[in-house]
This record gives sequence, structure tokens and C-alpha cells, in this order.
Amino acid sequence: MNRKILLDEKNIPRQWYNLAADLPNPPLPPLGPDGKPISPDMLAPVFPMNIIEQEVSTQRWIDIPEEILDILYRWRPAPLRRAVYLERYLDTPAKIYYKDESTSPPGSHKPNTAVAQAWYNKQFGIKRLTTETGAGQWGSALAFACALIGLECKVFMVRISFDQKPFRKLMMQVWGGNCVASPSTETQSGRAILEKYPDTPGSLGIAISEAVEQAVNDPSGTTRYSLGSVLNHVMLHQTIIGLEAKAQLRSIGEKTPDIVIGCAGGGSNFAGLAFPFTADKINGAEIEIIPVEPSACPTLTRAPFAYDHGDTACMTPLLAMFSLGHDFVPPPIHAGGLRYHGMAPLVSQCCVEGLHKPRAIDQVECYEAALTWARTEGFICAPETSHAIAATIQEAKKAKEEGKEKTILFSYSGHGLMDLSGYDAFMSGKLTPYSLPDEMLEKTEACLKTHPQAPIRKSGKW
Ligand SMILES: *Cc1c(COP(=O)(O)O)cnc(C)c1O
Repeated sequence: MNRKILLDEKNIPRQWYNLAADLPNPPLPPLGPDGKPISPDMLAPVFPMNIIEQEVSTQRWIDIPEEILDILYRWRPAPLRRAVYLERYLDTPAKIYYKDESTSPPGSHKPNTAVAQAWYNKQFGIKRLTTETGAGQWGSALAFACALIGLECKVFMVRISFDQKPFRKLMMQVWGGNCVASPSTETQSGRAILEKYPDTPGSLGIAISEAVEQAVNDPSGTTRYSLGSVLNHVMLHQTIIGLEAKAQLRSIGEKTPDIVIGCAGGGSNFAGLAFPFTADKINGAEIEIIPVEPSACPTLTRAPFAYDHGDTACMTPLLAMFSLGHDFVPPPIHAGGLRYHGMAPLVSQCCVEGLHKPRAIDQVECYEAALTWARTEGFICAPETSHAIAATIQEAKKAKEEGKEKTILFSYSGHGLMDLSGYDAFMSGKLTPYSLPDEMLEKTEACLKTHPQAPIRKSGKW
């Protein structure tokens, strides 16, 4: 039995998989301020046209340029590992595999799309990228990609993380990026928020508004904005995770997994692993596919499916997705990367269809799972990743109760070596169970009330 299943470089996937080609009901179109579907050229001040083409593409397979692969080879193909030590500890008949995305230089799955986005922007003649970051993983991934490709990188970092996580900021600086706390005084949207709420911890939505504003206001026209999750092209770039995992499972004669799990903030690492298997499910395979979110930010499990903005200042188009409301300021739980108010439209549509079955887990159970993981497998996972591990442990225990030898595959989205303060808070008893209070969902309703209705379309097959 192999604990590490490695794929030879020559067998790296050479195309990304686009789920939009196979969904029975493709996601609803984004809407502009007039409530009508936006046209691709309306996005042109924000993204380069080659990325916009991918965003709206319904082509099933899209070639990965050789120059992008040349950068990805630094850590890809990523190992698929078998968590035998956790299996023994749980005494489960389940086989647990995980795709190890923590081996990239910035330490998460995020460079898979950061590299692709930086490359397409460079091709289009762009000189500078702006973006937002929560816990700092996306900002560091984009700074890393820009350094390798030769672009300037400006990062608006959510204030609370900027203060709590100085090391991510330093990583960005090592790669030559410029990182400021958001809300900042550099943009109109930042200044407006600071005037109203001078002590705000910030949020991803606010930071997105600042980054978009700075990109579209560059008079030279050579700045664009880059988003680390949520959008279709980001999901596309991440599918290399699931495509590699499939090839690796095949190489050891393992069957299609019974259960596929990933933590979901904006949905990209989950989608990256899950979409190639979602295609199998659409074609008849029996797979349980589970996005896992914190009970403190229960977008998929408790929020409505609605049209909403991706940012607080309502600069982005309306996206059809599950949303807690664009003005949602989540409680400062430690899994910073899972605090976004919305969810990728493609993942949202899969949940509407019943192809994906979302689950919310409390932060205390997640940190307990992270400690179990560290004390069996040995690795220290990112707080976000602990949600996937907690769900995996739940499923492995269930397999034991049912006496079934199930195959579980999950996404190990990143390591936690930059997030030890979260572990500290947990181990010193400062973290208590926290589920979003119902009053907060009333605010969500009020926030979404004036937007056009997003019709629920499902085939009824799942
Ligand atoms: C950013 C991040 C996430 C959440 O983002 P998704 O787009 O939902 O994948 C999860 N895990 C890690 C380690 C991250 O850095």
C-alpha cells in the first residue's frame, strides 16, 4: 500500500475541465445595475479579455498554456496521500485519501489560479494587479505569481488579519508585493467606511471594493483586478487538483471515491477537487460530494439563493449565489479564509441541483479535528482545511458504524504554519462553539430584498 501516490511530470493534466459545459442548468448570468445580463465588454475595465472569455466559456476542456505548466512544475503534480495513520487511529474500514495542496511555495491551492491569472494579464499587456486578501493566503499567492511573471502586485488586506498575521504580509513583501490594511484611506470606498465605522475589523467585501476601485481608476489603463475565488475562471484553473487526483487514484487501481470533501469559503479548492468528480456524478456515478463551511458563516446551509453583489460597495455585478448579504460582517473566527458572504455561482448551482450536499461544522469540532490530524498524520493544517478534516472524520466514523469500506477523498487545501495563533486561541480555551444567530439572517433578508429574484432551477435528478 502506498502512502504517497505521485504522478510523473509528463502525466500532468494539459487541459482544465469546465463544469459549465455539463451542468443540466448552467448558472444564471450576472446582472448589471439595470437588472439586465451584463455583456463581456462591461467587465473589460476590471479583467483582461482573455480571462473574460474563460469566465463566460461553455467549452468543456480548455488547454493549459505550456508556460503556465512550466511554472506549476515547481510543485505540481501535487502528491495524493493516504491518511493511514488517521485510519488506524479511528479504527475505520474507510480508506482516506487527500490531495496535498500545501506543498506550493505559498502553502495552499491558491497559486494554481494566481499563476494562470497573472500569466493571462501579462499576455494582455497589463502591468499591475490589485486584489484583496483575508487571512493573507490569496495575497501571498498573487504576490508569488506576480514575482515569477513580472507584474506589480497591490494587496488590500482585511484589517483584523493585517494586525493578527504580520507574517503573511511579510511573505508578500518578500515576493515584492505591496500590502495595505483595508479599509484604507487610499480609496473612496475605504474612506467612506472608515468615516462611518472607524473601528471596523474590515471584511473581504470591503477589501474587494477597494481593489476594484483602484484597478478601474488607473488612468494608464494597465491595472486590472484579480479575484482568488468565486468566479468561474478561478474554479476552472483549480480543476487541475481533481484531474490529478483522478489520474493518481487510477494509477493505483483505486475505484471512484464514494465521498469527496472540501472546505468552502468562496468555493475554489472544493470545486477544484470536486468538479471533475461532479462530471462523473452527472453521468451516473454514485458519489457524495460535500462542501464544508463554518457554522459561524453558514452561506450554503442557511443563506438564501439570491442575486447579490460580490462586494460591499456594490461595484461588482449581481451574481446568482447563496449569500448572507453583501453587507455581512462575519464574527472574527480564526478560519479567515472561510468568512466570505457569498459562494461561487457554479458551486451554488450544484447545491441547488442537489449534486453537492453542503454541511456546516462548528469551529471547536474543527480545531479538535486539526489536533487529531497533527497527532496522527503529523502535519499542521490550515484552520480552513480543518473543516474538511472534521467532515472526513465524521464520515470515517459513520463508515465504521455501518461496517462499510468506503473510499473518502478530501482536499488538503493548505498548511497552518502561519496560523498558529488560531491554534493558540483554541488550546488556551478561548474558542467556544459559535453558530450564527438567527437575527443575523433577518439582516440578510433585508439586504437582499431589493435585488431581482434568482429562480431555482433543478432537474430533480439528485
Ligand atoms: C483561501 C483558502 C480557503 C478558502 O477558499 P476557497 O476559495 O473556498 O478554496 C481554504 N483553505 C485554504 C488553505 C485557503 O488558503
